[in-house]
Amino acid sequence: MFQSRHDPGKKYLSARFWQARGEPTLLPRPGGQTAAPPHHWKDALLAGIGATIFATALPDTSLAAISNHRLRMFNPHNGEHLDTEIMRGGKLLRSGLDEFNRFARDWRKNISHEIDPRVVETAIQLQSMVGNDEPMVLISGYRSPQTNRELNGTAKNSLHMQGFALDLRQPGVSTSHLHRAAVSLRRGGVGKYSGSSFVHVDCGRVRYWGA
Ligand SMILES: [Zn+2]
Repeated sequence: MFQSRHDPGKKYLSARFWQARGEPTLLPRPGGQTAAPPHHWKDALLAGIGATIFATALPDTSLAAISNHRLRMFNPHNGEHLDTEIMRGGKLLRSGLDEFNRFARDWRKNISHEIDPRVVETAIQLQSMVGNDEPMVLISGYRSPQTNRELNGTAKNSLHMQGFALDLRQPGVSTSHLHRAAVSLRRGGVGKYSGSSFVHVDCGRVRYWGA
C-alpha cells in the first residue's frame, strides 16, 4: 500500500520546523490559510523556467505542503528496495533517515555515511512532484573516496563522497522532466546525464550542468 504523497488536511509545517532550518516562520492567515513558504518551487518555475503548463498541471509539492511521506526507492546495482516513512507531520524522521543512509551506502565497499538531510528533502520533493507508482531509482548515493576513484567518469571532488549528492531516475519520467523539476527547486547543484538517464542533485551551491 502506498500512502498519499501529501495530506491536504495537514498542509503546513509547524513554525518550529522552519525556525530549525533557518527559514522564515509561516504565519497563519485568517480563515486557516497559511502564507506560502519562500523559494516555492512553482514560483521558481514560473519565474525562471517559463513552463507554465508544467507548473499548473502539478499539485502543490513545496516542502511545506508535504506533511507525510514514504520514500520508495530501488537500487538497480544490488536489487535492494527501500520503502520507509521519512516524514511525518512535516518533520523528517530519524528512523527513516537512518534507513535511507543504509540504503544509499557505498554498496561496493559496504560503507554507510550520513546523507545530508537537505538532499534527502530534495529527493522527497522530487518524488512528490514527478513520482508515480514506481519507486525512484537511486543510481548513486554515498561513494567512498576509493570507490569514487575506481569508477569511470566521476568528479575528483565529487560531493557523493560527503553524502551531499544523489543520482536519481524516475521510471516513466523523462530525464528532461526530472531535470526541470530539480532545477525549479533551486536547492543546490543539478546535473543532467541524458546518456545514462539520471539527474544528479546535491546540496552544494546552486548550479546547473549537463545536457
Ligand atoms: Zn552524482
